[in-house]
Amino acid sequence: MSEKLVSRRDLLKGTVAATAAMATGCAWMGKVGKARSMLIADSHCHVSSTWYEPVETLLFQMDQNDVQHALLIQYMGQVDNDYQARCLERFPGRFASIVMVDTTQPDAPDTLAKLAERGAAGVRLSAGTRSPGEDPLAIWRKAEELGLATSCAGGADQFASDEFAALVEAVPDLPIIIEHLGGVKHRNNPDPLYPLAQKVFALARYPNTYIKIPGLGEFCVRNMPVTDFPFAKPIPPFLEMVYEAFGPARMMWGSDYPPVSGREGYRNSLLLTMAQFEDKPETAVEQIFGGTVLALFPTLQRSGDDLDATRFKP
Ligand SMILES: [Zn+2]
Repeated sequence: MSEKLVSRRDLLKGTVAATAAMATGCAWMGKVGKARSMLIADSHCHVSSTWYEPVETLLFQMDQNDVQHALLIQYMGQVDNDYQARCLERFPGRFASIVMVDTTQPDAPDTLAKLAERGAAGVRLSAGTRSPGEDPLAIWRKAEELGLATSCAGGADQFASDEFAALVEAVPDLPIIIEHLGGVKHRNNPDPLYPLAQKVFALARYPNTYIKIPGLGEFCVRNMPVTDFPFAKPIPPFLEMVYEAFGPARMMWGSDYPPVSGREGYRNSLLLTMAQFEDKPETAVEQIFGGTVLALFPTLQRSGDDLDATRFKP
């Protein structure tokens, strides 16, 4: 498969088309059957030799589904980032490394600086991460100073808190990418007006916030017994709410590979999620499924790519 732009028509050829048609119905097929050029980047993948799966299995999924680039997000508890660094060397331009450091250590900011020198593009922090010593925001400020981005894990209650809003405000030049739809799920939002989700998504008022859009399996209820479309309808309106709040230039799809394989699977997490945006403009879909990642992580370019990601900037 060429590493150049793929059209959605290419994407939907063969088994991909069959899966998508079965899963989403013919209306969507007709719509995306129109040629659309797009470059897909996955904002949330985990690889290692000690937990989850090695990079080769991720590459298999990416190649099967015409996903050109991915952010390698260090998994919780792991602060040895060598495996991810090697992935960048082995597959130039294909990945960016989002590292973890032991933030309980006073020298964590220095460790992060060294990792940045060796090519890390971002650091994964939790919403509640605070540094020891005089400045509880030391690690956040260091990331800002180094020009890194932060992939931020947390629960909806944490993201909705005043403390987190104050943190976001304190580091205005640090891109803070909220993971997993801000922890918003159907089951922690029983109220039809979704007050908790609204509070999380109101973080969009800070221009340095971004949000990851997961597969539907992360926040929808699975249909049992099985049906062609695997989730109970109506699905909660969270993607639409995020679109309204953040806009496509601050949204990024992320598969959460390989845990996604225990939910709806990699391909379904891409295609069923994309289908939710079928009524949106082509440029918006391009941004959500690749452009936003490419604009924030310009090292994601392979030789031969002729990509001007600046057009995806918010
Ligand atoms: Zn994950």
